[in-house]
Amino acid sequence: EKANKKEKNQNIQVFVRLRPLNQRERDIRSLGVVEVLNGKEIVVRQSAHVSHAKKFTFDRAFGPTAKQVEVYQDVVSPLIEEVLAGYNCTVFAYGQTGTGKTHTMVGENTGDETSWQNKITPKLRIYEDITRKGSNIVNGLEEITVYNKNEVYKIMAQGQERKRVEGRSHTVFTIVVHMKENSPEGEELVKIGKLNLVDLAGSENISKAGSDNPAKRERARECVNINQSLLTLGRVITALVERHPHIPYRESKLTRILQESLGGRTKTSIIATVSPGHKDLEETLSTLEYAYRAKNI
Ligand code: ADP
Ligand code: MG
Repeated sequence: EKANKKEKNQNIQVFVRLRPLNQRERDIRSLGVVEVLNGKEIVVRQSAHVSHAKKFTFDRAFGPTAKQVEVYQDVVSPLIEEVLAGYNCTVFAYGQTGTGKTHTMVGENTGDETSWQNKITPKLRIYEDITRKGSNIVNGLEEITVYNKNEVYKIMAQGQERKRVEGRSHTVFTIVVHMKENSPEGEELVKIGKLNLVDLAGSENISKAGSDNPAKRERARECVNINQSLLTLGRVITALVERHPHIPYRESKLTRILQESLGGRTKTSIIATVSPGHKDLEETLSTLEYAYRAKNI
């Protein structure tokens, strides 16, 4: 039993990325209280006292100087290999608004160009799907056929512009890759792989839901759906890794949409993004705890 638990689930990888202090934080001489150590550990100092530090270990921890290409190579690139082998893969960015989820997911035009160019037939299908808060319908679901990766980047940029209410919606961007192959008998086979890039709504919505403050409570009501999705996502991941007979996909819109990409022979990576600032300490700890649960199962 214990040995079983120790066996790492290779289908879920959990990463954390710590952004640098921003200009505003530097202007007010905000204290950085979070630190990345030896590429795997992240330490949060809750006070000057050494014993008040919390340490979390992840598959990889990216510090404030980590480059986009590094994150891409460690997080996305291994999944591309799987997608090109015909599997469904998902990358989630989870964290407080302003910590770099979108920055991390949209990335830059870098990386594995040759593997894409060599293996993909000139037909990619893109689904873009924006699930807005307070809405029970899927908005903005679109399927667009593109023929090269520049078109993919263009669509991603447009999707970002459409995400008007920053931090308050989930953005699911799915790339469906059709690959034509010829069997030894000369038959044409089509292999299909999928990559979901999920930029989740800000995780601070979870903590605001229980507030006693009336203004916050109003906002909290708007956040019920986001909450439901983030909490259900956590439960779905737990249930999958613990191999429960029942996986609660249907309990949120987000997990329903991603159902076929979250079970079976799929790979999932979660990248938790955090702020270094003292004022964000509570959210940072809550993000790291959420992510650690996914890793630790
Ligand atoms: P989120 O999507 O989580 O709300 P953003 O991706 O919009 O956060 O990031 C907030 C701001 O911080 C943006 O201006 C972004 O460019 C900047 N930022 C985030 N992460 C980093 C990073 N690792 N390095 C440099 N700037 C970053
Ligand atoms: Mg964002």
